[in-house]
Amino acid sequence: MYENPVKVEELAAQLVSFPTEMPPGNEEECAAYLRDYFNDLHIEGSVVEMHRFADKRANLVVRIGPSGKAGLLLSGHLDVVPAGDPTLWDTPAFEPKIREGRLYGRGAADMKGGVAAMVKAIETFKNKELERGIIFVATAGEEMGFDGLKALIRDGKLKDNDALYGVIGEPTELRPVRAHKGGTIFKITFHGRSAHSSRPDLGINAIENAAHFIVELINMRKRLGEIQDPDLGASVLSTTIIEGGIKENVIPESCQVVVDCRRIPSHSREYIYSKLEELASSLRERLPTLQLTIAEILSYDPLNTPIDHPLVKLCEEITGQASETAPYGTEGSLYQKLNIPTIILGPGSVKQAHIPNEYVEIKQLHQAQSLYEELIRRICL
Ligand SMILES: [Zn+2]
Repeated sequence: MYENPVKVEELAAQLVSFPTEMPPGNEEECAAYLRDYFNDLHIEGSVVEMHRFADKRANLVVRIGPSGKAGLLLSGHLDVVPAGDPTLWDTPAFEPKIREGRLYGRGAADMKGGVAAMVKAIETFKNKELERGIIFVATAGEEMGFDGLKALIRDGKLKDNDALYGVIGEPTELRPVRAHKGGTIFKITFHGRSAHSSRPDLGINAIENAAHFIVELINMRKRLGEIQDPDLGASVLSTTIIEGGIKENVIPESCQVVVDCRRIPSHSREYIYSKLEELASSLRERLPTLQLTIAEILSYDPLNTPIDHPLVKLCEEITGQASETAPYGTEGSLYQKLNIPTIILGPGSVKQAHIPNEYVEIKQLHQAQSLYEELIRRICL
């Protein structure tokens, strides 16, 4: 690999070579590589801190420049989604290849390319006196519930109002993304009673009750669709997993249904939860055997940095692109909760994320580095 990565694509390739598939994550080695990279830069007064929160799991936080509230927080995640079937890849997922102006490998676009561009941008200013500080955050576990960033905040490594602005380098093809929906995943367990399938009247069929409920969920999606957020459209929900039954000839006593809800800012997780409960109690009027419990297995808030926010304006100016909204969720909502207004801006396309032969255009890596440098120049110098 690249012992001394000089160019941004070489650093990105180096990061791709760490197999940080989530699950299980194993981000520690990759975080340690970046820790050593920053230590080798010998930036005066910088504080480089690894934050281990589980076995082989670690985040990295680097603070550069004057203490107190930083100007800019630059953030990216180190974990990647699983490479999947290796036969679908032209070259192995964790053996990065640079060819024809692209860097190939799992995480090239989502989002080790963005992380590399941020690191290289910071490196450019290593001998410059900063007016306001920079915080660089590399997180673990973004692809599954943001567990790394949540641990960082829980352990007080990042605090309320830590920075004036935040930028996350997720792949946006270098367009500023100011808003996205929140998301909540519910697991609904339907409780029935088993019986021989020749006597369904003696049991309570959990799968059939779940089926009634799922039809009502489709109606609920239609009702949610009538409420439009001007920026983000409507909340949507979908049944995405169903599991139940143990044998061909047994009335199933249990059935689990997973419901994925993408929420607009006016729909809190509590609101959706209460709508599900309401739905259950109204359905119970004609289906008295319906019994269920609703558990939340994951939730994140929307990101809604206002369209006229100075950070949005600045990013629009330096990219020459109007800001947009995104259909996917990011760690931005957690930074927003820390009162750090955040936008998403990074190299690569989300279309390239999570698929075999993932790549990022090297030209975009260089452009991203320049954009981050410009942001540092405008905000921190
Ligand atoms: Zn990502």
